Amino acid sequence: MTKFKVSLVALENHDVPKWVYNEMSKNKISFLVNECSTKSELTTNAFDADVVWLFGGSKILKKINLSLLKNCGAILRTGSGTDNLNVDEATRLGIIVANTPEAISHNVAEHTIGLLLAIVRKISVHDRKNREGIWSDRDELPNLHIHGNKIGLIGFGHISKLVMYKLKGFDLSFLVHDPYVNNQIITDTGAIPVTLNKLLRESDFVSLHCPLTKSTKSMINKEKISIMKKDSIIINTSRGEVINEDHLFSALKRGDIAGAGLDVLVDEPPRKNNKLIKLNNVIVTSHIAAHSDDFLYNFWKYSVDTIIDLSKKRWPKSCVNPNVKSRWGINYI
Ligand code: NAD
Repeated sequence: MTKFKVSLVALENHDVPKWVYNEMSKNKISFLVNECSTKSELTTNAFDADVVWLFGGSKILKKINLSLLKNCGAILRTGSGTDNLNVDEATRLGIIVANTPEAISHNVAEHTIGLLLAIVRKISVHDRKNREGIWSDRDELPNLHIHGNKIGLIGFGHISKLVMYKLKGFDLSFLVHDPYVNNQIITDTGAIPVTLNKLLRESDFVSLHCPLTKSTKSMINKEKISIMKKDSIIINTSRGEVINEDHLFSALKRGDIAGAGLDVLVDEPPRKNNKLIKLNNVIVTSHIAAHSDDFLYNFWKYSVDTIIDLSKKRWPKSCVNPNVKSRWGINYI
């Protein structure tokens, strides 16, 4: 019998821990590791792989390259966002697209709350002043508070649910917009399901937790920002392109909304002339929301568990195209 073959084609400069090789061998999985950045490298290394594995956000699995993967029944994207590969085409070809959101969702939720607190409590503004030798309780930004306010969560998946769970002690109420989650499920958590416009109109804080797709690209634009409250704050730990940055810049500069906490940008790293990141009412971190002392171990662990499931033709714990007609003939349960 031919061995189940897994080809790891993107590593983002990480080394594969020894225990990962051991687990593969223990489970009788043939495991090939080769960073691929061209079509021919991908063909050489993955044309006969049962699973093609991307550790991180490599863009090698674009539409045209997916047809090279003649034997592939599943793609594993270590991490959460799958906007770096063509999920629609994979689905058309009958390829399951698995990911490992649980590995990092606590970290991203904590970071989201960190950005919210840092903006509302003006932590970075006053920290910067003190570095310049200015001890002062005055600044040009509005004074805000968290308790008794409303936060609107756009997307209600792994991260968003944890943000809500962790924020429950802050005496906030929760609005949720997620067209793919049943209203009853949202209501059962204590949140109120609403349309996007109602969420934007009524929330004091808006936090983005949806994937980057055709329908979410520039979802937060001039028109949407114009219906937000003047003292509202937007937090984005999802993907930069979900917000139109030019429109956000203009709104923040004019004071149409009060502030923004961003872990993600359209261009990462940002261009030198990016005006948005220089505004005083903006906090930017360098796409580090997932990082922690345990995130790399978790990435490998959840990925290896997923691969073992796939090698036994079991449906993966997390998959972004559950309706795919799998080449392997297995179904989402
Ligand atoms: P998830 O798949 O568990 O949840 C995403 C939710 O968004 C789903 O419930 C889905 O129904 C919903 N959604 C899809 N389209 C929507 C739309 N048009 N409007 C509203 N909701 C919509 O994903 P997750 O693990 O919670 O992660 C969310 C996103 O966060 C990822 O897609 C990724 O882009 C981003 N992310 C960023 C970092 C970081 O380091 N900053 C780390 C992990 C994930």
